[in-house]
Amino acid sequence: DTINDVRTAHSNAEAYADLHRFVAGGVSSNMRAKGVATPIVVDSAAGCRIRDIEGNELIDVNMGYGPHIFGYADPDVTGQVADQFTRGHLTGLPHRLDRQAAGLVTELVPGIERLRFANSGTEALMSTVRLARALTGRTLLLTFEGHYHGWSETLLRSAETDGYRPRPGAAGMIPEATAHTLQVPWNDAEAVEKVFEEHGGRLSAVVCEPVLGNVGVVPPDPGFLALLRERTREHGALLVFDEVITGFRVARGGAQELYGIVPDLTVLSKVLGGGFPVAAFGGAREAMEPLATYAAFHAGVYSGNHAALRAVAATLTKIAAAPALYTELEALGAHAEARVRAAADSAGRVLAVDRVGSVMSVQLMAAASGRLDRQGHRLLQMACQRRGVYFHPVPEEPWFLSTAHTRSDIDTIAGVLGEALAETAGA
Ligand code: PMP
Repeated sequence: DTINDVRTAHSNAEAYADLHRFVAGGVSSNMRAKGVATPIVVDSAAGCRIRDIEGNELIDVNMGYGPHIFGYADPDVTGQVADQFTRGHLTGLPHRLDRQAAGLVTELVPGIERLRFANSGTEALMSTVRLARALTGRTLLLTFEGHYHGWSETLLRSAETDGYRPRPGAAGMIPEATAHTLQVPWNDAEAVEKVFEEHGGRLSAVVCEPVLGNVGVVPPDPGFLALLRERTREHGALLVFDEVITGFRVARGGAQELYGIVPDLTVLSKVLGGGFPVAAFGGAREAMEPLATYAAFHAGVYSGNHAALRAVAATLTKIAAAPALYTELEALGAHAEARVRAAADSAGRVLAVDRVGSVMSVQLMAAASGRLDRQGHRLLQMACQRRGVYFHPVPEEPWFLSTAHTRSDIDTIAGVLGEALAETAGA
């Protein structure tokens, strides 16, 4: 069959080059091509391992950017979704799975009483911003540098700002795309105060990743989320937590549970569906009123399809039934952090390691300047990949650990990292 043809006919490099003839840029997500040095074309994945078309097996810590908290092809989740496909997975009608999946989300996430399901983080954030504007009758948003909220017209913006104004993030966006967006540095309380003084009465929402996970891992400074909670309340703006990464990841109830700050609106994806394309956004009962009355518009042929909701139900049921899950993931993360730090120390090189539970960033720093060594990181990534360990070549992308990673897998990763650090020293 054609899948086998590709497997036998090409090396990774050849297959990747060939892909570019048919798929623009060789990928269906720009993120997937970012910084790629030695391409991998995947054959299959299971547990914490991916197998490429040359038959190489790699231990993966990128893990599809974070959804697979129980590892790839977890039978408890995929088995149920496979069963759903035999029962019809898309009718365009409500299903009892809507109630079951929504019931589980509202039970586990403190800030959600009512919700809508969508297909991706991008979609859910786009709808959340619209909902915030419908609720407040205001348009202005406050966002933070480096926080990624998907690729919609409103939220894709560059890191650079003119004053507090970010620029649109890519070619083809209208210049006014970010006209209603302000942006300040993460954890900069003074800048937040200033924005509220100047624009508080015009802000519809403050949108953030409660733990920044798209520029390495940057937890909120103590009191920072509380400041956002207080100021939004005082000024009649909404607090939106983009918990696409942190939801069901840093704690069962996400970052809002971990830090004890409940936002007005929450966006979930990734772990929510255990790897299947699904997202959710929701809040307190009243906050969802514009959608309950259909005054605000959100739709989608595939939104909340039965297969996606079966994946949500299976994943969240498994999470709810595992009281020790997050303690175990924390212990695994702590072990990984210790081993990675030790590998850097024995190689005499500097790795910045930042971690919240099972999300951890590992970034090579230049010893002399103490700044991120992007080129060195890329060489390190290539050397690890050659030895059978895969993490994303871009240092901003964190590692995601799962219950499929054993202590012994972590030790293998740290061993490989140590060798790669030694090999690439002075390169
Ligand atoms: N928000 C955050 C915090 C994310 O990390 C991502 C994706 N990595 C998104 C939103 C966008 O989600 P999606 O790619 O599913 O549209």
